[in-house]
Amino acid sequence: MNPKDPTLHPETLAAQGLGRVAQPYADIVPPIHVSTTYERSGDGTYPGGRVYSRADNPGYDQPEALIAALEGAPSAMLFASGQAASAAVFQSLAAGDRVLAPRNMYWAFRKWLLEFAVPWGLVVDFYDNADPGDLAKRVGEKKTRLVWVETPANPTWDVTDIADAARAVHAAGAVLAVDSTCATPVLTRPIELGADLVMHSATKYLNGHSDVIAGVLATARDDDLWKRIRYVRGGGGAILGPFEAALLMRGMRTLHLRVKAASTNALAIARHFEKDKRFSHVLYPGLASHPASAIAVRQMSGGFGGMLSLRVAAGEQASKDFTARLKVFKRATSLGSVESLAEHRASVEGPGTFCPADLVRLSVGIEHVDDLINDIEQAIS
Ligand SMILES: *Cc1c(COP(=O)(O)O)cnc(C)c1O
Repeated sequence: MNPKDPTLHPETLAAQGLGRVAQPYADIVPPIHVSTTYERSGDGTYPGGRVYSRADNPGYDQPEALIAALEGAPSAMLFASGQAASAAVFQSLAAGDRVLAPRNMYWAFRKWLLEFAVPWGLVVDFYDNADPGDLAKRVGEKKTRLVWVETPANPTWDVTDIADAARAVHAAGAVLAVDSTCATPVLTRPIELGADLVMHSATKYLNGHSDVIAGVLATARDDDLWKRIRYVRGGGGAILGPFEAALLMRGMRTLHLRVKAASTNALAIARHFEKDKRFSHVLYPGLASHPASAIAVRQMSGGFGGMLSLRVAAGEQASKDFTARLKVFKRATSLGSVESLAEHRASVEGPGTFCPADLVRLSVGIEHVDDLINDIEQAIS
């Protein structure tokens, strides 16, 4: 199979791992390379083209090439975690650079920006991602180096218009980076919409089985910023282990099936409970009632993802009791796996959270949807 054949669909590229076959045994699944170092020839050159495994590992080639193909990117880079991938973007900037991040975003990274990036010398300002005009307004206020978008964004699933953001960010001479973890390349392709960098916590949908921590960046251009990010990875050593890279590759072969099944289930759950008075809000970008529904319809194709939040009308304690009574949904943090997870999100985020106290975040998996709806029904009553 020629992975460059433009008639091939992303589902085929993923299932076949770009059609790669390893040599010399014609393995359909390539071997795992555990060596940390590579022998030089007598003349000092490296016949295998590799020097030391803190720079990279032969087992990265296939998953990085697949992610790049799915994102329409010339290059992708694996990291030890989503946090390490996100941090590498900001660590590649210079002290004094101003960056803009969304008010509602993945909590642990917001915390890292405030507790690491600020003391390290970056100027971190926030825009309101529940207000579609705020990003463009704030990026024009002061000279800005980079704007971070997360869409749909934790835990209320605000959707940011990536094409609009790219126009405003580029007009201001800044770089646009998108955390596309919850959208996945199945539903949204940020680079085609104008983003410069895309980040995924590959721990979530890309791997999809709650058994690997990994992250990845994809770039629109192999430019100086990308070279600097590569140095941050190799120099800082935030690399993925070879076994994790192989597990991630296995997970990605079923990415499209899993994301479509989770999206179908989440939409069915959202519709089932949308008018239920026991929930004050059913937050899901695929519902016409969601404030960002119009942007989601324009920007996402093939579904709206597996993430949805329920706000329990009877308040904070009732939302905790509801979570405690769930039997099929597992009470656990994280998202994007085949099994459904639920958590009282404000408890996880802790002091300073913007998350409403009555909100329960659901990561909808690929189980039979009736079992998930019945579980919510028995837990809310
Ligand atoms: C989990 C997550 C991250 C962080 O990724 P890790 O792999 O846990 O380090 C970043 N952004 C989003 C949206 C996430 O869900």
